[in-house]
Amino acid sequence: MLAFLLSDGGPRLVRDYPQPEPGAGYVRVRTIAAGICNTDLELARGYMGFRGVLGHEFVGEALEGRLAGRRVVGGINFGCGRCDACERGLARHCSTRRVLGILGADGALAEELVIPERNLHEVPNAVSNTAAVFAEPVAAACEILDQIGSVRGQRVLVVGDGKLGPLVAQVLARDGGDVSLEGHHLETLEWLADAGVHFAHPRGNGAAFDVVVEATGSPAGLARAIEACVPRGTLVLKTTIAGSHQVDLAPIVINELTVVGSRCGRLESALERLADARVNVEPLVSRRFELREVEQAFAAAAERGTRKVLVEVP
Ligand SMILES: [Zn+2]
Ligand SMILES: [Zn+2]
Repeated sequence: MLAFLLSDGGPRLVRDYPQPEPGAGYVRVRTIAAGICNTDLELARGYMGFRGVLGHEFVGEALEGRLAGRRVVGGINFGCGRCDACERGLARHCSTRRVLGILGADGALAEELVIPERNLHEVPNAVSNTAAVFAEPVAAACEILDQIGSVRGQRVLVVGDGKLGPLVAQVLARDGGDVSLEGHHLETLEWLADAGVHFAHPRGNGAAFDVVVEATGSPAGLARAIEACVPRGTLVLKTTIAGSHQVDLAPIVINELTVVGSRCGRLESALERLADARVNVEPLVSRRFELREVEQAFAAAAERGTRKVLVEVP
């Protein structure tokens, strides 16, 4: 089958990748569409040392099991199902987890994937295929509320208007936060005003925000986020970057900031928000490609100012 494989020479389209075989508890899913996000770009640069088929944002059709024939999205963390974390419903923190297209498990930028059946969620009719591809990143945005509680009435700054920032801004604004989004490519995001999101010019606001979410995908964003946070404020870090970088941590201590690392969230929360249009995602699609053009799609996703690139499997 066609698959977008990351190996030592970098990512490339492979035409004769073996069809995946589901182990016990796993089912086969035919990919309908998949998204490319910053994590994929970082993986190609060496983050996590991943080798295998890329892609963890997808909508597909289950080919077997209780949801056979239905449209599905899937939780990307494959927990062992037996440890403490798994028993608390936190498979995404299972120490022996595999992660779809990220850690030890082939991903969704292929004609088919295999995934634990218990990870699958049926996509409601009200959610389009395009919107469903955003279930994973919208869940990652919702995770912030699970971690820090409601932001109702708080001044929130989202730093980074790329692939994740506009989703985070919408989720937090719909929760009642007074949300500003800061970035360099805001011109195409005017429609976010309907969700109550304001626009901030980079470095125009000083330290004025109770909650600052760093979603730039770049090392520079962290320094900016630290500087924008009020004393005793909360700093939420969303960016994963290959390699290490230097940042001055003294302001975190001096201003007694609470730092929260934040990763994947629950797909149920995301599907609910997508079904009743509390989060609008369609305008975030920059370009669409077919799977056979995935190498061009990946190059397009890496261009500055590009938001979501979708790869469709006809
Ligand atoms: Zn992602
Ligand atoms: Zn486990």
